[in-house]
Amino acid sequence: MKFKYSLLRTLVVLLALNATAQKIFDTHIHGTADPIQQLQTLALAGVYEVALSTSWDAQTLYKDTNGIKVLQGLMLACPNGKVPYSNQYCFADQGDFPDVTWVEQLIKEHKIHFIGEVLSQYYGISSSDERLIPYYALAEKYGIPVGIHSGLAGPDHGAPNFKVSLGTPLLLEDMLQRFPKLKVWIMHAGAPFLEDTLAILKYYPNVYLDISAVNNPYIFPKADFQAIIKRFIDGGFEDRIMFGSDNGPINLAIENVEQIDFISSLQKEKIFYRNAEVFFSRENK
Ligand SMILES: [Zn+2]
Repeated sequence: MKFKYSLLRTLVVLLALNATAQKIFDTHIHGTADPIQQLQTLALAGVYEVALSTSWDAQTLYKDTNGIKVLQGLMLACPNGKVPYSNQYCFADQGDFPDVTWVEQLIKEHKIHFIGEVLSQYYGISSSDERLIPYYALAEKYGIPVGIHSGLAGPDHGAPNFKVSLGTPLLLEDMLQRFPKLKVWIMHAGAPFLEDTLAILKYYPNVYLDISAVNNPYIFPKADFQAIIKRFIDGGFEDRIMFGSDNGPINLAIENVEQIDFISSLQKEKIFYRNAEVFFSRENK
């Protein structure tokens, strides 16, 4: 009974909030030890859909709940078989890369909704490395997106081959030319390699970005975040910026976007969810 009551209370709170809260599509979250609590916190902040990157074991613990739709991502390549920071194995066989036939089957069954977070920088290879090509080919074939970690990293990630220079979005160019229909997003906006992100966006219309980490005031000062958004808006890319939290403080990340005074409320809506709706839509294949 107690359980039922708390569920009911959550539902009532959510219904009340839904009427007022900003709708948020969070394109960048990772697993936690308590998925229910995590999704409840996100729902209270206005999140209705998430793209989840985590170990395959942890993916099985997540279901659509609290009014949140969960898109499930396939993380690879895994340094020593593991997800950076969390130390969990990516796959049951503890391999660095999953079996391609298994991946295709799960995509067909709509159990994998995107490839990501691609960990090439942590693994010590280019985002266009030959070992990633079979997965990109499947993503293009079935019309699902690929999200690629770019930029820098936090401390203690446990990936011995990590290289700063592998974080530039320019390394995407070979795979973008090989798969011209592939939908790709540059995670963390490629910061601090913003010139490179802008160059890729300008030339390749299928490329989007997420603003996770850059919208976290504990990582990037507010002024830096606003300057980064300004670069993308001035560059004409308001239709390709997507919200992401990377498990950072969700309310501060949202507030950061809300406080930008040089963009309209429609532009904010595009960042919060409209662009992600377009980007993650999948033709029924
Ligand atoms: Zn990342």
